[in-house]
Amino acid sequence: METMRAIAPEPRPATSETLATYYGTLLQHFGPQHWWPARTRLEVIVGAILTQNTSWRNVEVAVARLRRAGLLQHRALLNAPLSRLESCIRPAGYYRQKARTLKAFASFFEDQFGGSFHRLFHLPMGECRARLLSIKGFGPETADSVLLYAGKFPIFVVDAYTRRILSRHGLVPPDADYATTQAMVHQHLKPETKVYNEFHALLVETGKTYCRPQQPRCSSCPLRPFLPVAGPVLVAGSLANSPAWALAAEEAE
Ligand code: SF4
Repeated sequence: METMRAIAPEPRPATSETLATYYGTLLQHFGPQHWWPARTRLEVIVGAILTQNTSWRNVEVAVARLRRAGLLQHRALLNAPLSRLESCIRPAGYYRQKARTLKAFASFFEDQFGGSFHRLFHLPMGECRARLLSIKGFGPETADSVLLYAGKFPIFVVDAYTRRILSRHGLVPPDADYATTQAMVHQHLKPETKVYNEFHALLVETGKTYCRPQQPRCSSCPLRPFLPVAGPVLVAGSLANSPAWALAAEEAE
């Protein structure tokens, strides 16, 4: 276990070379991750909604229950009684809120795009993002996951793993928000869907395997050579990027 510093330094300047090195190193270490693990674009979107605040294992269970119930079609989601949806996705946690978000997406998709992914993803990326963010229950991470993994747009998804790894390496400030972290990656990594897809998936794998919330396993981590000389950065409160539910979900992975 690596000792962490409790003082925040100025972030190290990230460069295109830095991010390319991180990306190449992780790809070599873990290999391609083949994300998003889903059969259809609707299933990607359902997964992106359900994965908030829980582990992927719980999402898989909930998606399998939706499939068995014949609910992995947007009109089926739209027409199903809310209580039936809630019952199916209960293993993913926050099921009341998530059931409403699933219905809100299905309604948005039917009303504004006639249930056509071609029409939805034919919009310019910025407009598509704004429309997705207008759905009740959609935040930036959900919207960008949909854009990248279902719409194949070149947009980088930021999550708690990304912020933790990049801030521990001093590449973003420990309190960097979603937009700041995303802008840094967009600035230094070329806007290719394939690269953004893979880099996000690789950072998630790094976070799960090595960059644990409380006790990072730096000694065996492939990113160990790129740590600041003084070790990973931990600022009091920096784990606020990973709230209690996220820490619990990760520790259970
Ligand atoms: S990414 Fe790896 S080397 Fe960097 S802080 Fe996390 S565990 Fe340590």
